[in-house]
Amino acid sequence: MARGGRWYGGIATADCCGCNLRCVFCWSGAPRDHPDKIGKFYTPEQVYRAVKSCALRRGYRQMRISGNEPTIGREHLLRILELVESDGLFTFILETNGILIGSDKSYAHELSKFTRVHVRVSIKGTSEEEFSLLTGAMPEQFNLQLQALKNLLDCGVSCHPAVMLSFSDREGYERILHRLADIDASLAREMEEEYVFMYPHVVERLKRSGISPRIAYEPSRIPEELI
Ligand code: SF4
Repeated sequence: MARGGRWYGGIATADCCGCNLRCVFCWSGAPRDHPDKIGKFYTPEQVYRAVKSCALRRGYRQMRISGNEPTIGREHLLRILELVESDGLFTFILETNGILIGSDKSYAHELSKFTRVHVRVSIKGTSEEEFSLLTGAMPEQFNLQLQALKNLLDCGVSCHPAVMLSFSDREGYERILHRLADIDASLAREMEEEYVFMYPHVVERLKRSGISPRIAYEPSRIPEELI
């Protein structure tokens, strides 16, 4: 159920199903679009046990739930974070698109009860228009991702932004840096650059959407600094 991975210098990962966005560069296939038909339900205790065992076997200090959008199962996720907290052995990297945390500050408040969680908010594009083009969501929802970072900082939750820059020009890069700095200077300083990796099904999905990345990497040639 859990797998190892080289990201973050080594992290144990469980994969979840379902997302509230429809990114054209998403690497998740059926688990995103048909979560009701894929996989099976595991309790928070079962998930934590599997990820912990994977982490201990490989000597990792970090764990995550990835593959889709882990914040969708709020109660389930919070219970896993309780288990992480009470064990005190690992840091949980919460990778999220931020939409739910941006739309409900109480989510950030609940996350603030945990000392062993770091949130990575992955922002899709550098403007309302890019966001909508890339995700299929309404342009104004772009702000929910920025609001997520604001809510997390307000509640004292460790976090940083990652920005999908594959489809943006220099102007977009500067624009998002300014918008992040308007929330807090640390967010602009810590902004992580994210680019598309051209797995075969991602290439297929991009072809169908008719949208081409300006910068993208073959999976076998991912630069060290993006890992
Ligand atoms: S937010 Fe992540 S999981 Fe959801 S569609 Fe976008 S890339 Fe896929």
